[in-house]
Amino acid sequence: MDFSFTEEQTMFKDSILKFAEKEIRPGITAREEEGFSYDIWKKMGEMGLLGLSIPEEYGGGGADAMTTVVGLEAFGHGGWDGSLCVVWGSHLLIGAMPIVELGTEEQKKTYLPKMATGEKIGAFALTEPEAGSDATGLKTTATKDGDSYILNGSKTFISNAPIADLFIVFASTDLEKRAGGLTIFIVEKDTPGLTVGKPLEKYEGKSTPTGEIFFDDCKVPAENMLGGEGEGFQAMLYTLGWERIAFAPTIGLMEADLDACIEYSKERKQFGKPIGKFQLVQAMLAEMKMDLEASRYLTYLVAWKKDRGEFIGLDAAIAKTFISEAAERSSRKAVQIFGGYGCMKEYPIGRNFWFSKMATIGGGTSQIQRLVIGRLLTGL
Ligand SMILES: Cc1cc2nc3c(=O)[nH]c(=O)nc-3n(C[C@H](O)[C@H](O)[C@H](O)COP(=O)(O)OP(=O)(O)OC[C@H]3O[C@@H](n4cnc5c(N)ncnc54)[C@H](O)[C@@H]3O)c2cc1C
Repeated sequence: MDFSFTEEQTMFKDSILKFAEKEIRPGITAREEEGFSYDIWKKMGEMGLLGLSIPEEYGGGGADAMTTVVGLEAFGHGGWDGSLCVVWGSHLLIGAMPIVELGTEEQKKTYLPKMATGEKIGAFALTEPEAGSDATGLKTTATKDGDSYILNGSKTFISNAPIADLFIVFASTDLEKRAGGLTIFIVEKDTPGLTVGKPLEKYEGKSTPTGEIFFDDCKVPAENMLGGEGEGFQAMLYTLGWERIAFAPTIGLMEADLDACIEYSKERKQFGKPIGKFQLVQAMLAEMKMDLEASRYLTYLVAWKKDRGEFIGLDAAIAKTFISEAAERSSRKAVQIFGGYGCMKEYPIGRNFWFSKMATIGGGTSQIQRLVIGRLLTGL
């Protein structure tokens, strides 16, 4: 196992870090008030970030999983903007990559080039009001009608929904079969019968617009089916690797918090000394660093195995659970180190507090991941 970066990856990491520090970090507080910024999105597109892992033949950067992780981590570290990382991950890793991995040549040619530049924004729509952890119990139906399918139902908590141009939608072609009925469709936002609700109000992360989608006799051409009828569940497991890699920016965000805490603990004085001299503060810094490094290498392991074509189900579940919970622990300590200032919006340090909490829920809760790990360990 060798996680050393190539010279190219090191240069790439440095360039993304610098770009994010210069272009992303200064505007995070304003974006939280004003919402998603198309100007920033355009700049990310110009940097080649929005199509990073899309194959070159479809206009993307052709990056493998490890290089993608390097870019996501550097972006999280330099930009310190968890919300924007969610927009990017939802667009690229769970919006575009299912098309890369499961799409027909026609689908790839139609959608990927515009997604690679960011002209078309993607989103992944699985969760429903009554079906979250129990995803195979979803109620959105897709009924065959000649050369089309008619979709009826609704989705909720969908990252990017209010800004997305196309959705990767999970629907059932046979409710009785549960997992065996799940079928995926690429649905464009202006398809008649599709409406998007108003952005949902979250405690944090306003610049990731999150929303609901409604399908009311929404007619989708059969050629927009991604994979075969009833193959959606298997496809979901298959594309999971990219979804898990979407957690890589969390490592960068943890690192940005740690940098800020080290700096603050050297500057902030109490009892006539920098607070960083107090061993209880040093202990919090040490624990943040331990969680950061363990999370980093778990993510590299998933990416490394994915690039080798190995089974990553167990590692991906372990990494998702550990990293999101480590980020939650770490963000609590970061706020603690900043004391009262950690609770003020003037300091971005508190933002990861909510962001990391959401990471333990989105993409499968910590409880569900533990069940997956347990099942894989016991085979029961
Ligand atoms: C910020 C954010 C962004 C999101 N973005 C997307 C997106 O882009 N696309 C998308 O499709 N979805 C998205 N989601 C939805 C997310 O995947 C679901 O919220 C998640 O799967 C949990 O579903 P739920 O909220 O319905 O909770 P529930 O499934 O109702 O769970 C409630 C609680 O019960 C626990 N629980 C449930 N079943 C079990 C069990 N069998 N054993 C033990 N405990 C259990 C859960 O762990 C949790 O603690 C997003 C969510 C958030 C918060």
